[in-house]
Amino acid sequence: MAAESELQRADWGEPLGHAATVRGLWQAARAARLPHALLFSGPAGIGKYRAARWFTLGLYCERGVPSKDGAPCLACAPCKRVTSGSHLDVFAVDLLETPADERPEELKIGRFVRRERDSDWDGRTVDEFLALRAAEGGWRVVLVREMERANVAAQNSILKMLEEPAPNVLWILECSRKNDLLPTIASRCVQVHFERLPVETVSDTLERRGVARERARALARWSRGSPGEALRALAQREWELRELLVQALRGAVPPLVSAAAVWELDGTFEGKTAKAIERARARTTLDLALGCLRDVLLAREGTPLAELSHGDLAALELPVARSGATLRAAIDGLLALRRDVESNIDPPLLLDSAFLALAPSAAACAR
Ligand SMILES: [Zn+2]
Repeated sequence: MAAESELQRADWGEPLGHAATVRGLWQAARAARLPHALLFSGPAGIGKYRAARWFTLGLYCERGVPSKDGAPCLACAPCKRVTSGSHLDVFAVDLLETPADERPEELKIGRFVRRERDSDWDGRTVDEFLALRAAEGGWRVVLVREMERANVAAQNSILKMLEEPAPNVLWILECSRKNDLLPTIASRCVQVHFERLPVETVSDTLERRGVARERARALARWSRGSPGEALRALAQREWELRELLVQALRGAVPPLVSAAAVWELDGTFEGKTAKAIERARARTTLDLALGCLRDVLLAREGTPLAELSHGDLAALELPVARSGATLRAAIDGLLALRRDVESNIDPPLLLDSAFLALAPSAAACAR
């Protein structure tokens, strides 16, 4: 939880690697060329929402919209109101502000339009915000985080509001899966694409947060240049999880012992109930195991190791990789278990089966 709140909640600093993109938008603001809706899209965890916040600050800072190398000061009264969430002209729809154990999976229509019934939201809605006039003059900004979580009804309500733009209202929609949006929403927005960061940049960021170098490099590589994903992997103890998987793959430890150790790690997983958290842990472990085996298979088939997250495993003589056929059988087994995670099967039981699939020789001996 610490990693999430640090990076995703309270952080209003300059967005790593995206300053130039934001400066371009400030320039458009100074030239009065901002559209009424922006869609910030790109992979998850790379800092799109942080860029949206930084950009928003620049619209309100007392120093004026930053030019060239300028930046919002973070110290003036309007900057402080924006960062504390008390600025009357900035409205954020952000599921991550809800504690993880109460957080709904979807953004529902009730966040956007007042509904008397079937609403899980009793706070202010976007349409109520938009009905007010600008308190301080200038822009009125609606930020929506993880727009891909908005269900169809919610998206339709947004679409309606986008189709009737109020003066001086700026929507900033942040989205990691553009395919989950209604095409009509995307076409109503000016799209701003954000790229992944260099792996070294992510690794340096982790090291500055006190993560040891070898671990920082591995997590940055696995995240493929997404600081948010790397921090999530850190919080979920994926480095330690992979150690357990490798133990089992090498046959160094009985697979069921490694599987049991997964449940002893103190990783942080998201979920409303204890069962949901167990499922999240099983899902992450299975995805990591699949990633490892796929990379070993790809390495066998000639993919350069530098292009693979888990290419280092190809050098180990893993019993499961004795032939392409045993490797594919293990991957198929894990894929079937991965599908079972969403069903009612006991997560520890699933992981026992997964670890047995990783160590086929040990499983054969046990029979
Ligand atoms: Zn300021």
